[in-house]
Amino acid sequence: MTKAVKIGDRIIGGGFPVLIQSMTTTKAEDVEKTVEQILALEELGCDIIRVSANTKEAAMALSEIKKRIHIPLVADIHFNPEMALLSLEAGVDKIRINPGNMPLDALDKILALAKEKDAAIRIGINSGSLEKEFLEKYGVGVESMLQSMKKYVSYFEEKGFEKIVLSAKASDVALTVAINEVLAKEFPYPLHLGVTEAGVYETAVIKSAIGIGSLLLKGYGDTLRVSITGDPLQEIPVAKEILTVLGLRKGVNVISCPTCGRCEYNMVDLAEKVSQAVKGMDKDLTVAIMGCAVNGPGEAREADLGLAGGRKEALLFKKGQIIAKVPQEELFTRLMDEIERM
Ligand code: SF4
Repeated sequence: MTKAVKIGDRIIGGGFPVLIQSMTTTKAEDVEKTVEQILALEELGCDIIRVSANTKEAAMALSEIKKRIHIPLVADIHFNPEMALLSLEAGVDKIRINPGNMPLDALDKILALAKEKDAAIRIGINSGSLEKEFLEKYGVGVESMLQSMKKYVSYFEEKGFEKIVLSAKASDVALTVAINEVLAKEFPYPLHLGVTEAGVYETAVIKSAIGIGSLLLKGYGDTLRVSITGDPLQEIPVAKEILTVLGLRKGVNVISCPTCGRCEYNMVDLAEKVSQAVKGMDKDLTVAIMGCAVNGPGEAREADLGLAGGRKEALLFKKGQIIAKVPQEELFTRLMDEIERM
């Protein structure tokens, strides 16, 4: 188990539930738009929000933004140590810095102020911005990312700063998985997971599900971000779905067969309608919607609720027992009633 790092009212690591993170696409200087986007993300289930502090005005706007949101605020810092100091003064809960563009000698003041403000720091290695010394020696890969992380973590520890979260992201899924496995074994600090620059919606969902999902399956990872080009509101349902299907977050897991020539009821429409209706539900349930008697009864019995299709009807299973034979026009209402009741 990793160390626990408290940020705001949330705890990262230490065996606590995996938290969902996102990043705003607005300019932080535009407080109204930024707060509006964060509140919408909160509503969907975002647990932690990162905002780019790339100008003095942006860093200074963070104190007003923080007052108006309800989840921990993280400042994203690159190149300029002054932005880290301004963000910490503004009261952010965590800052993210990148060793590839933040020299060690700039760190002392940041670490001292973070300690004073009880803020955490994420050391975020990115394969696209590795330090020159490691890049020249090892090229892009696990070793260069690990050495860069080791250098920074040692420095933080020497200075007595241990409120640390680590991340190592790459646009390559296999590299993301490989480096995070090494980090999880090497360091006691929580890990933030993500496949960076994952692309547009469909590609990003697949890369994230494989990369983040395979690490979570092995028990690694304490926060995650599904990075999708475009509106960050798209990220949260995908992140929730990854956690739900892995049993790491409450949610209704709908399983449904692809259907084939044996299916004799309106199963496709039903599966889509039910999947939409249960999105975001705070229930720990598996619902099986199956087309026919081949795999239907088996899957339906295994699930909390299940349907095994017949001719224009389906058998409804609850906790392994058949409780009704339901005509197809009543299936949606009946199934949703049962879900609500459980
Ligand atoms: S459960 Fe039945 S309808 Fe669904 S894919 Fe299998 S055989 Fe086809």
